[in-house]
Amino acid sequence: MMRFRLLTSAFFVVAAASYPLSGDAADEPAFNTVHAGGRNYINIADFVRYYGFDRNWQQNDQDVTLRAKYRKFQFKLNGRESWINGVRVWLNDSPLEYRNSILISETDVRKTLDPVLRAWAAPRRKVRTVMIDPGHGGEDQGTQGYRGTLEKRVTLDMAARVEKFIRRSGFETLMTRRTDTYVSLEDRSQLANASEADVFVSLHFNSAKPNPLPKGVETYCLTPVGLASTGSIRRQLGMGGFDEEPGNQFDRQNMVLAYVVQQKILKALPEAEDRGVRRARFFVIKATERPSILIEGGFLSNPSEEKRILNPSYRDKLAAAIAEGVKRYAALMDPPVKKSP
Ligand SMILES: [Zn+2]
Repeated sequence: MMRFRLLTSAFFVVAAASYPLSGDAADEPAFNTVHAGGRNYINIADFVRYYGFDRNWQQNDQDVTLRAKYRKFQFKLNGRESWINGVRVWLNDSPLEYRNSILISETDVRKTLDPVLRAWAAPRRKVRTVMIDPGHGGEDQGTQGYRGTLEKRVTLDMAARVEKFIRRSGFETLMTRRTDTYVSLEDRSQLANASEADVFVSLHFNSAKPNPLPKGVETYCLTPVGLASTGSIRRQLGMGGFDEEPGNQFDRQNMVLAYVVQQKILKALPEAEDRGVRRARFFVIKATERPSILIEGGFLSNPSEEKRILNPSYRDKLAAAIAEGVKRYAALMDPPVKKSP
């Protein structure tokens, strides 16, 4: 903290002009930006005003909380974790303290926070058909639990359950596989791209072998251009990725979908640890030209989580929650009026 304070005066330049956050959407919010070592930041006072949070935010050491009547946004200074209405959302850059105020990265506001806080601003595509993608299959078994549970089997079981709940809500469903067969990642995305699907939901289970401790649920969506994936080596080097992927045309929808699905999972399964909405450039979410997410529904490498996952009623609850998330997303994509998750 001290080191940063010494740097600030020479390091920051407040941009004079107020201009819309760079992006295509016509209704992107306009903020004054503060430039710091190659990054643009937004002052918390502007952020609070724009998103309708109470003007007096709460700061407890490194923990900052913004409140409004129906929403809460928490984050840590010098950390990348944030929570929107209690759901963990990983940021690209750490918020910073600066001259008795706080700066939040413009990239994070534009690419991660704004899509959730103004979900109604996402370009809409009515959801009629959902493609479900059970990870792995055939010779590709995926990961394996301590009790011998094969990821490819659990994902197929989960896909059938998710399909059941999604159909009950009146949507059509498609699957990238219905049997224990190998389907390449390219074929999965091509199946989606050639189909009527309006969204793509890939189902996986996690492993941290040989570490048996990590547990919890993660929902991934595609890393936007210029950002670093949540767990990447490039992130540690402070580098973003600059290739535009087909899935990047849905940056806003991807984030909304990932957020509402993670939110519904945590609501339905309070025992599940929230590992957050994360970014990655996994093949199936970058090559699929539909709003897409990839859910890691728990760690088969954690013996107690594996045991829970082996319980069919737990899987049913998880599947119902994923379907609820997709339904919520569909409602946001088909509104006559403004809605927010
Ligand atoms: Zn997997």
